[in-house]
Amino acid sequence: MKIEKLLSKLGKVLDSGEREEMKWFDVDTAPLTKDDYSKLESNFKEAGGFVKIINAGSSLNKDTKKEVQRVWLVSFKNQKDLDKWSQEFEEKKKKDHRYIGEQLDWFHVQEDILGPGLPLLHPKGMIIRNGLIDLIREVNAKLGAEEIWTPHISRCDLWKISGHYEHYKNKMFMWEQDGEEWGIKAMNCPMHFQVYRFKPKSYKDLPVRYAEFATVYRKEQSGELHGLSRVWSLTQDDHHFIINPDQIEGEVTKIIDAARKVYDLFGFEYKIKLATKPEDSMGDAKLWDVAQDGLKNALTKLGVEYSLNEGDGSFYGPKIDIYVKDNMARWWQLTTIQLDFFMPDNFKMVYTDEKGKQQMPVVIHFAILGSLERFMSIIIEQNAGRLPLWLAPVQLRVLPISEAQEEYAQGLVNEMRGLGVRAEMVTEGTLGKRIRNSEMEKVAVTAVVGDKEVQANSISVRGKETMTREDFKEKILLAIMDRSDF
Ligand SMILES: [Zn+2]
Repeated sequence: MKIEKLLSKLGKVLDSGEREEMKWFDVDTAPLTKDDYSKLESNFKEAGGFVKIINAGSSLNKDTKKEVQRVWLVSFKNQKDLDKWSQEFEEKKKKDHRYIGEQLDWFHVQEDILGPGLPLLHPKGMIIRNGLIDLIREVNAKLGAEEIWTPHISRCDLWKISGHYEHYKNKMFMWEQDGEEWGIKAMNCPMHFQVYRFKPKSYKDLPVRYAEFATVYRKEQSGELHGLSRVWSLTQDDHHFIINPDQIEGEVTKIIDAARKVYDLFGFEYKIKLATKPEDSMGDAKLWDVAQDGLKNALTKLGVEYSLNEGDGSFYGPKIDIYVKDNMARWWQLTTIQLDFFMPDNFKMVYTDEKGKQQMPVVIHFAILGSLERFMSIIIEQNAGRLPLWLAPVQLRVLPISEAQEEYAQGLVNEMRGLGVRAEMVTEGTLGKRIRNSEMEKVAVTAVVGDKEVQANSISVRGKETMTREDFKEKILLAIMDRSDF
């Protein structure tokens, strides 16, 4: 019955005449199994059609509010085209962070019930995210940035002062409640400025350096949404440094230096563009000069090459854009260091100078990773799911050859866990299968222990020679601490 229903629906979909295009249809049946997929495919083949079912899952019918099965498929005119497509699809899938994320139980996006562009992170995905946050927390400590926390929603009054209400409204989630307009934040700056304004500031207080790992919500076109890289809910490693113009060079030098150390960790190449004063700019001409000289001096001091985008800055200040290239030769705009002469004026942010006069500070907006979600998608795809040891959800998996070594293996796992290593033992299945699974599940280090290892108190690491337990312990801990290769 299930298959008949599907066949008739499928026939109608394919009669539309289009081929080689992914499409979906909803059908009112019980959930489909992989067995149903192949039955359906072979039934259709008998009738002279060539389809590949890519996926099926529960979905809510918008009109009837009833649960239906949504079937995704692609169709072809002949078997050869179908085979070629299937092969390419399988290869592509292996490098797609969406597939890797679901396959490894790291995260998923659930369009039905929840909504599009709103990824859910599972425990292992959260380990990756927290690893990135820890990294930036270390950067913040070096930069002297202090973390704050600001709420996700506010009155629209705030967005009216910042100008987002007027210029960014179509990308913000807003609603009316009890006669007032409210909005979910799409950026953090206006809230950070409230923290700055809370107490009067003097020149001695500057630089004020705020940082927040903040989830913001932006209503992108649903057709543009993609896994973790294009979402509605994104978490920025957001920073606002509030400084006097003389501090621009010093602060920006430190920020760029910190950013490039982060890129080095992931093997990214980078290029830097400096965008200068556009024709329709606001603010004092002298301030623009000081700011642009500050940025140029910072880049020169660091000895980094950069290109000049004359006139491409924002109307409210010059900026530095940093693009990184991953190992798949894809360029990503990761970091922007934006100077801002406009918001301090808008939000009436001031400080008292040495002479007791009120001055307006300059704001530096920047994020190093940009969006944690998008950054995760980049590093997941650049090595088909294999992450560096320090970031891998499972850092060490110990496989005893037989039951006889289980106690030794468990002892090793317990010891490593005690030292903060994400370690586990797997005993189910043949050794060959367990090794393959470990590879497939992107475990960073796989170790095998047999009688020989137990007797010698040693450990045999896949792809390396056997080492003593002490030696192994020291090496893996050092590598995790240094964020280096094992
Ligand atoms: Zn900002």
